[in-house]
Amino acid sequence: MAEPLVRLENLTKNFPVGKSFFGRGRHYVRAVDDFSLEIFSGESFGLVGESGSGKSTIGRCILNLIVPSSGRIEFAGKTIFDKGKGIHLSYREMLPLRRDMQVIFQDPTASLDPRMSIGDIVMEGLKKHRIAEQAGARKTAGDYLELCGINRDLFLRRPGEFSGGQKQRIGIARALALNPRFIVADEPLSALDVSVQSQILNLMSSLKERLNLTFLFISHDLRTVEYFCDRIGVLYLGSLAELGSTGDIINNPLHPYTQVLFSSIPRDKPWLKPVWIQLQGEIPSAAPRGCKFHTRCPYSRELCAASIPLPEKAGKGHFVACHRWRELFQEAARDNAASDI
Ligand code: SF4
Repeated sequence: MAEPLVRLENLTKNFPVGKSFFGRGRHYVRAVDDFSLEIFSGESFGLVGESGSGKSTIGRCILNLIVPSSGRIEFAGKTIFDKGKGIHLSYREMLPLRRDMQVIFQDPTASLDPRMSIGDIVMEGLKKHRIAEQAGARKTAGDYLELCGINRDLFLRRPGEFSGGQKQRIGIARALALNPRFIVADEPLSALDVSVQSQILNLMSSLKERLNLTFLFISHDLRTVEYFCDRIGVLYLGSLAELGSTGDIINNPLHPYTQVLFSSIPRDKPWLKPVWIQLQGEIPSAAPRGCKFHTRCPYSRELCAASIPLPEKAGKGHFVACHRWRELFQEAARDNAASDI
């Protein structure tokens, strides 16, 4: 088995949300809660979940843009953060690793400096990391712009002269210019018109193969995750509800929350009874005790509110954190068998 490129162990991130009633101590919201994951070289791993589930926080922790509250992060065999051992790499110590891990932002307009030419934007990292001086940087930046579908003759133009899709191509060229191994793509399509989303997705897909990139693809758009990702993790209130290959998660979702999320996508097994579950209520602002999903889950029982379900192995590489997944799976199988008669 290949060594993971990214390894997260018991990652937790709390954000302060104000002081207690008497002004002493602080209240915290737990955006990521005891989250563990391995991402392997060359794969695209999709993180899905509702807004506020902690997806982007995980990406930012890996990139060392925010400091986790506890846990451990390892990238390419090097520990970036380990609360237990008091390790947290400084900005200077992170510099060599930063080349290897890049980000594609959600909003291409906000992520490109409107005062700079697109050439300078792509060259900025090359110069900062002393990868190339002016002439070499110019050539490399032009090569990557063309690789991403932007003519190098437009080198001196500013971002404001480009469409949203073209700006995202420039953002991708900037990320690739440093020849990274790992890319966090944080909702890279959600600010784009539907008509250009598929073009950018196809571009990312071909670049992934061509440059042997590893992706953490964060999205709430399940169709793009299905198309782009090899494995999927389903996140609910900062915890992993289910993890598996894209095929397992799409065609055989076992956690009720995964079933809700993916029930809107037509299955490739039309003879199976579709799962339509009505969610109860809104996503809570603070995690409830026991199973975090129990306040909205139609299958909740007393046990669910009392104890936290731990991830159980449901198949090769397929894990589900639900007390009742076996029972619900058997019930669904019986219903499907009965509907066949
Ligand atoms: Fe629903 Fe209980 Fe499973 Fe949580 S543990 S998802 S509440 S059935």
